Formats: sequence, structure tokens, C-alpha cells
Amino acid sequence: MNVTTVDVCIVGAGISGLAVATFLRREQPARSLCVLEQGDRPGGAIRSYHSQGYLAEWGPHGFLDNRQESRELIALAELENDQLSAPLSRFVRYLCLGGRLVMVPQTPPRIVLAPLMSWRNKFRILGDLWRPYYAGDAGEPTVAQWVEHRFGPAMLPFADAVYTGTYAGDIKKLRIDGVMPGLRELEKKHGSVLRALFSRMRARRRERQTTGAVQPGLPAMTSFVAGMEQFPLALAKPLQDAQQLHLQTAVQTLQPDQGGWLLGTEHKKYRCQHLVLALPINASLQLLKQSLTELSPPTKALPEARIHSVLLGFGPEAAIPFGFGYLAPEQEQRFALGALFSTHMFPGRAPGNGQLLEVLVGGRRHPERLQLSDSDMIERAFADVSQLMALPKEPSFTAVLRPEAGIPQPEESYSSLLAWRDQLKKIHANLHVLGFGWQGIGLNEMVREAKFLAMELAARPLNPAHEVKGIYV
Ligand SMILES: Cc1cc2nc3c(=O)[nH]c(=O)nc-3n(C[C@H](O)[C@H](O)[C@H](O)COP(=O)(O)OP(=O)(O)OC[C@H]3O[C@@H](n4cnc5c(N)ncnc54)[C@H](O)[C@@H]3O)c2cc1C
Repeated sequence: MNVTTVDVCIVGAGISGLAVATFLRREQPARSLCVLEQGDRPGGAIRSYHSQGYLAEWGPHGFLDNRQESRELIALAELENDQLSAPLSRFVRYLCLGGRLVMVPQTPPRIVLAPLMSWRNKFRILGDLWRPYYAGDAGEPTVAQWVEHRFGPAMLPFADAVYTGTYAGDIKKLRIDGVMPGLRELEKKHGSVLRALFSRMRARRRERQTTGAVQPGLPAMTSFVAGMEQFPLALAKPLQDAQQLHLQTAVQTLQPDQGGWLLGTEHKKYRCQHLVLALPINASLQLLKQSLTELSPPTKALPEARIHSVLLGFGPEAAIPFGFGYLAPEQEQRFALGALFSTHMFPGRAPGNGQLLEVLVGGRRHPERLQLSDSDMIERAFADVSQLMALPKEPSFTAVLRPEAGIPQPEESYSSLLAWRDQLKKIHANLHVLGFGWQGIGLNEMVREAKFLAMELAARPLNPAHEVKGIYV
């Protein structure tokens, strides 16, 4: 079988794999690399939908612009002029509480000060200052256990909304150490989360006073003129031009070989010094468990949460409140997890002066709803949002997007998986495992880990056998 030899082989052309390749090419243009992707398009979970003048998203709708690595990657993709920003300072979010939409301030201290709960509950939140460290039975509390212990039950709907909006998860199953790594260390060190926050605020203020830096404002939600998919497509273009991106190339096997790795695909083998698995956590586990037998993973797979989107298009008469959208905590017993007010966030995503709502259905708690037919799902989603805002009798446009990608859930076995990945790295120093669900689930987290790895790879000596020689005429 035909064998291609490169120095770095990256499996997966989602944002993680593309970011590793892009940063590495910037650091070491001579490094030979290739990206292998099973699908016929780059981007993975990032995919935009265009139909009849509507623009919506199958996967991520945007990411916050407060991470330096992501800004660098946008610059490397040459997309600065195509960037769209919806600042958190202008665009409010709503919670569905008691069957109606309530505007929620953007930061936890403001949520506590807002008239969203009784004074008794507000005082209970301050109780965090005196609560002992959460030991719990198993030592690794769920988000719900931990939030209730520290701040009282009144904070649960807010925590629920946060982790519905990010993980589409269930706070009774998600682990606090998985979704907020390091927070319990601070809790332990300062004896309280609030004390830790105050101490961090004081330290930052002192730093600003000494450096003269201005206090940063709230970040902005970022997307692109042609939707989120524009980002991976722009990153993939130079790789495609250099024939370094191989689409429709599913990696089926991997095995250690001559101090490096040998990868098997349907038609070809790839030999590399460094193997980067830039895949969702379960896809990596699948490949690793069948290929590496000396250290089996503590679990076969992490649970995933899947969401489907119901797109509802309206004319300008629909009274969609101004803001990003709303989330509905589980206690509200609604059909939809929430909805994005897409044309407020990024105007022009509906034809003419129309409006678009993207209603989110399913999540970790309600996978059964994903089995509904398109027409039933649209009917139930429309009935749900119609109770929360004044909408016309019927939407003028409907569609259902059913992405295959699920969101990995840091539940019970997650911390042991991370420990397993660390052990694996000790055994195989040139095997690099990152991507969706390993160190977070957001795009910014993917890009940060990708850049970190690219810099680590760039610091390692280039194998002379794999160096691309310059051509001199
Ligand atoms: C519905 C949904 C909504 C989201 N919303 C947001 C949001 O608003 N903001 C945000 O920041 N993040 C959001 N995310 C998370 C974000 O999409 C992910 O962080 C990111 O896309 C993960 O990128 P990745 O490259 O690690 O994985 P992926 O995007 O999954 O890419 C992995 C790639 O590897 C390929 N692959 C898999 N197995 C193989 C194999 N054996 N051989 C070759 N190729 C293989 C896949 O085809 C895929 O293209 C959302 C995710 C989902 C699913």
C-alpha cells in the first residue's frame, strides 16, 4: 500500500485540527504536515445554513472575542474585515422564569443585585463566605450539588440556564470540576468563592494601577459575514492549496512505528513522527482503544448532548425582544431549551427586513424530543415561543437542522479520562490528543489548546528527514 511520510499528521479538520496546522505553519513553514479529514468538507461541528435568504447555524453561533489566540487565528485566516461583533454590553439575555421572559444582567454580582430573587435568598448567597469546603460523598460534586451547597437553591435556575446554554447539559450530572476547572481549588484556598472573586478583583485593580492598563469592557459575541463556517473554510484554503488537507480520508487504525506512528486509511497509509488527534473526545477514544492496548481508557465514551434547531422566520411585525436570546431552566418544563434572536445579534440573516429565531430542542435531558418529525418539532417549538413573545399566527419560513455532532458532557468519568490522557502522554510523547470535549467545549478553548500544542511542536527539533527543502534557481 502507498505510504505518505510527513513529520506531523493531524487527524480531524474541525477548528482544532485546522488551528494546530495554521499555527504550526506560521511558526515553522518548512515543517511537513498533513491534515486528514473523514468528511468531504472542513469545519467539523461548524457549519452554516443558507436558504431563501436566511442564514443560520448547525453548530456554534459565535464565540467571545476575549481570547488572544482566537484573535490571532482570525488574523491568520485574514478574516478581520469579515468579522461581526455583538457586544455583551448591548445585547442582553433573557431567562424564562415563571412562564415569562426576564432580562438577566451579564455578570454574577449584577444578577445578585437585580430584583430576580428575594432578599432572604440574596443573603443566602452571601452565606458562601462562611460555608465549609464541599467534601461531598464521592468528593467530586455535580454542578447542582455544589451550587446549592455554596449559594443555596435559589441560584440553581441560573446555573441551570448557564449550563443549558453552553453544554445543553444536566446540572445534576455535570461535574463542577469538569465545567469550571480550578474553581474548587480557589474555594479551598480562600475558604469561599466570593472571597476568591474579591481577591482576584483586588489583584487586577492593583495590576491596572501599576501598569496603567484600562479595565477591559465586556467581550463581544463574534461571527462572520457568511456565517461561522467562513472561519474553518478560510483556514482550510491555504492547506488545500498546499495539498496538506486530505478530505474523505477517514483514519481507521493507528500504531506506533519506528519511533513515530503509522496510520491506516482505506486507500493509503501515513507515517509520521508526531500524531495529533484533533477529534471529539469519543472519536479519539474509539481510535485509541482499538489501537493502543497497554493503557485502556477508564470509560468507553462520555455521554453527549445533541441539540436540533428549529428555524422560524417572520416579518418585521414579530415582537422579538431585543437581545441575544433566552434560556429556559428545566424547572420551567418548556419544550424548547431556549432560542437565539439571530437577526438582532447579526442583522441581515433573514430576507428583506425579516427576522429569524433559532429555537433549540433536545439536550442531555430530552433526547426523546429529537425523534419528533420536522412538522411536530416545528409545531411544538412555535407554540412554546409564541407563549413568550407576540409572534404572528404562523412563521413565514421554517426548517429543522439536525446536526450529528453531540456536545461531550464532563460527567462522572471525565476527570479520570483527563488523568488517563496525561498518562498516555507520558508513554507516547509524540502522541497529542486534543479537541472537542477534552479541555472544554467552546471554540476559544479549542483554539487555545491548539495553539499551545503548535508552539510545543514548534519547539521540538525538526526531523531533518521530513524538512521541506528550499528551491534555489
Ligand atoms: C450544536 C452545537 C452548538 C455549539 N455552539 C457553540 C457556540 O455557540 N460557541 C462555541 O464556542 N462552541 C460551540 N460549540 C462547540 C464547538 O462547535 C466545538 O468546540 C468545536 O467545533 C470543536 O472542534 P473540533 O475540531 O475539536 O471537533 P469537530 O468540529 O468535531 O471536528 C473534528 C473533525 O474530525 C473528523 N473526524 C472524526 N473522526 C475522524 C477519523 N477517524 N478520521 C478523520 N477524520 C475524523 C470529523 O469529521 C470532524 O470534521 C457547539 C457545538 C455543537 C455541536
